[in-house]
Amino acid sequence: MILTDTHVHLYSEAFDEDRADMMQRAMAMGVERFFVPAIDSTYTQSMYELEAHYPDKVFLMMGLHPTHVKENYREELKHVEEQLQQRSFYAVGEIGIDLYWDKTFLPQQQEAFVYQIRLAKQYGLPIVIHSRDSFNEIVEILEEEKGDDLFGIFHCFTGTLEQAKKAIGYNMKLGIGGVITFKNGKIDQFLREIGLEHIVLETDAPYLAPVPYRGKRNESAYLKEVLFKLSEVYGIEAAEIAAITTQNAKDLFGI
Ligand SMILES: [Zn+2]
Repeated sequence: MILTDTHVHLYSEAFDEDRADMMQRAMAMGVERFFVPAIDSTYTQSMYELEAHYPDKVFLMMGLHPTHVKENYREELKHVEEQLQQRSFYAVGEIGIDLYWDKTFLPQQQEAFVYQIRLAKQYGLPIVIHSRDSFNEIVEILEEEKGDDLFGIFHCFTGTLEQAKKAIGYNMKLGIGGVITFKNGKIDQFLREIGLEHIVLETDAPYLAPVPYRGKRNESAYLKEVLFKLSEVYGIEAAEIAAITTQNAKDLFGI
């Protein structure tokens, strides 16, 4: 069984003590590909080092995370653009709007989101969207930017059935992670109405560990828990879900 973790922060300080072991555990569980979202320029070097270490396993994205849109966001966007010019990436992400932590920089978050969507189009790349308490603000921008050249993943999708359909309408796949195993997560109640061709798996590790690890550090090996829950929700063999979601990730990232 081959699994793809479409969203994992492998460079996080949370893995500094045991990163190699953590990667081994994930691979032992069948996780063969790790797609790594960017946060800001302070992590770029660590991302390149990880890629050099696992060249056929680790695939990088480039972007500025909405919670890191601060006073210096123009410099950060310049960094994103320079990296995209210099080498290849598999997506522009993670980008979007986050109004949970702080609303101060909403206009800058919106500007950065649009700017990075246009970079993705320019380079023919998918986008990976981070949305928290901001579905309507995100949709407003997707509505403006929609088209054949706009596609990607709605990462850590936790919305309603109606929102899921809306996201899919903008050529987005739904990134499903640990939240589906939460008792109050809700998406397990309607997800079977969404075809598996729209689903990719992710952990968002070190965040959002699935049950029974909820509240602890997450890691890619726990993708198995998400897979088993999806198998239960859809009433389809785990092996088949693994194959379909891995193929979806391949189609989306073009590798
Ligand atoms: Zn993330």
